[in-house]
Amino acid sequence: MKQLLSARKGFPLVVCAPSGAGKSTLISRLCADFPLCFSISCTTRHPRAGETNGVDYHFIDKKEFIRRKKEGYFAEWAEVHGNFYGTPLQPVLDAMADGRDVLFDIDVQGAAQLSLTLPDAKFVFILPPSLEELERRLRNRGTESEESIVRRLANARSEILSSHWFDAVLVNDNLDAAYDQLRSFYVASSLRPRLSPALARQTLGES
Ligand code: 5GP
Repeated sequence: MKQLLSARKGFPLVVCAPSGAGKSTLISRLCADFPLCFSISCTTRHPRAGETNGVDYHFIDKKEFIRRKKEGYFAEWAEVHGNFYGTPLQPVLDAMADGRDVLFDIDVQGAAQLSLTLPDAKFVFILPPSLEELERRLRNRGTESEESIVRRLANARSEILSSHWFDAVLVNDNLDAAYDQLRSFYVASSLRPRLSPALARQTLGES
């Protein structure tokens, strides 16, 4: 019983950013520094060079995606840049019940859905210094076609405009400074009393 009462609940940390804002790099650093569970999404897009099935994404076809969607497999899902993406619900619930915080790399539409279903979730939005800089980074990445770059820039504009409801917003101008802010926000969020409901009473010897 004492063991159960002292349990800390894990919480969802949702990180959103327009494509090319440096989100993946910041997320990788956070995962290297803390024992976070990364939520591996399903997607219908094709793997890029260097991506591994089951690690970066679960790569599935459209028919299978729709089948899973119908059976309630996803905590949220969205169509992004012409492909389907969705978060498997059960692994998230299992990790949180185990006291692990779960990191989500999803788009703004998915984040809005999670804000309704996961009440302990915290939401961070990463801004690029400017739209021009975002375009420069996307082109330098060399992974996207011209059509994909144009689509990602148009999406970036609307995502940035919908960032006002997030719990935190930070500008990735300097990577180290942006990472310090993300790290601080994560640590502060993880200290919320509601995640450790029995801690105060235990300190008083009352549990
Ligand atoms: P990419 O194709 O570049 O890996 O990802 C494109 C966009 O889809 C990114 O903004 C990424 O955060 C988002 N995304 C990845 N997985 C999910 C997911 O499970 N749900 C939603 N809503 N968006 C996702």
